[in-house]
Amino acid sequence: MRLITMIAALLCMTLIVPAPASSAEDATTLARGRITTKKGTRQVRHVRPPADSPQAAKPALPPVPPTPVAAPTPPAPVATPPPPQPVAVPVPPPSAPAPPTTASIPPPVDPNAIVAGDARLAGDDRRTRLIVDLAGPTAGLKFQAFTLANPYRVVLDLPQINFTLPADIGKKGRGLVQAWRFGLIAAGKSRVVLDLAGPATVDKAFVLDALDDQPARLVLDLVKSDPATFMQALAAAKQAAVKNAEPTAPATPPPPEAPAAPQGGPPLVVIDPGHGGIDTGALTRDGQQEKDIVLGFARRLAAKLEASGHYRAMLTRSDDSFVSLAGRVDFARANHAALFISIHADTLPDPFGVRGATIYTLSDTASDEESARYAEQENRSDLISGVDLSSESNDVADILIDLTRRETKAFSNRFARVLIDQFRSAATLNKNPHRSAGFRVLKASDIPSVLLELGYLSNSKDLELLTSVEWQEKTTIAVTVAVDSFFAAKAGEKAEVN
Ligand SMILES: [Zn+2]
Repeated sequence: MRLITMIAALLCMTLIVPAPASSAEDATTLARGRITTKKGTRQVRHVRPPADSPQAAKPALPPVPPTPVAAPTPPAPVATPPPPQPVAVPVPPPSAPAPPTTASIPPPVDPNAIVAGDARLAGDDRRTRLIVDLAGPTAGLKFQAFTLANPYRVVLDLPQINFTLPADIGKKGRGLVQAWRFGLIAAGKSRVVLDLAGPATVDKAFVLDALDDQPARLVLDLVKSDPATFMQALAAAKQAAVKNAEPTAPATPPPPEAPAAPQGGPPLVVIDPGHGGIDTGALTRDGQQEKDIVLGFARRLAAKLEASGHYRAMLTRSDDSFVSLAGRVDFARANHAALFISIHADTLPDPFGVRGATIYTLSDTASDEESARYAEQENRSDLISGVDLSSESNDVADILIDLTRRETKAFSNRFARVLIDQFRSAATLNKNPHRSAGFRVLKASDIPSVLLELGYLSNSKDLELLTSVEWQEKTTIAVTVAVDSFFAAKAGEKAEVN
């Protein structure tokens, strides 16, 4: 038993402590694809050997195709694949699901998925290693690693992984990594995003097969870089991606815009449960997540609106998937929503007894400091999730001067007021319940949009209410009544004009 422990400790040291003096030998060992211990040979499925390695010409181990991550030796650029476009928006079923019997929706678990059971960071600010212990069908596991700038990030894209790690495990960084997070980015796809303390390159990324009592491991090695090298590598990776994409790009013109959704019929209310997947949103002290609580609320609200027979209701996400902020707005516009309600819950590090619901609308200038902070926090969702914002269009600037927006703003404010009236009798309101700031998710130029912040997860009273079925029932009825009076007023105006 003692011998096994010693060997295990020895193996861990080999993996975790990248001694600079032995790094060349280490690379060679990895390039050969095996780590030999007294107990046997442990297979390493890594990405590609360094270009200057004598093994570079040899193919990777036969059963495992190489994953598309380069392992360059700095300062050679990281031949990373292109950062993915914002993920496709999942289209929920046209009819809302039945209201759940629990107040929050736990993330779905795929019983066949690989499980990440433990993870840790090792190393220092010159060289840092992330190790994730894996269980399940890791054979043939493929993944991609790439870097993003502004701010410096490294993204690992994987097939769906069931993360059983504590939600706050990545809050504390080490060496080159400031913080990191993990979760679903789209159906069947998981992602790990590392916030870097400064520019760094991916030196190696590989999977170690399980051996005896050692679990399979995903290993990512980062080495310190400098801003110029980092940006050069990023530009080279983007250029390579464009070049690679050219031969396969269709010669035909882009397809016409999606046909408009059927007009007429009951107006469509799009309900937007905030955050999801890799972006948990606010956390409670005991690890409950905003994304689950607001999804439960959103599903209940959608069911209420559908049941009224006066509206159609759609969700921007109906499960634990991540949807970019622009993706949420696009979803509402593509489906010709008549009203957009984003659902969130906030948290404050020191609650000062702050509690109650707040309704936010869009404005160029924040109504107060607290709203500016909150909008900035909510707008970080894409950044947190590893979306490359540099490729986003600047439509927002045009939208800001659009005349339509003024009318939309007036309607948004009107809905906010009726929502506050209804919420007042059903729930506790923040002492300043109508605020405004530059929330990206409220930027549809032609759809009245509000962000309903249900309360503070940092406040025990709010938390108790938000997670109770009874409170969710009462408040979703209040929102439904507010939606009724909003559309009734609109219909009345139309009748007057005619
Ligand atoms: Zn939120």
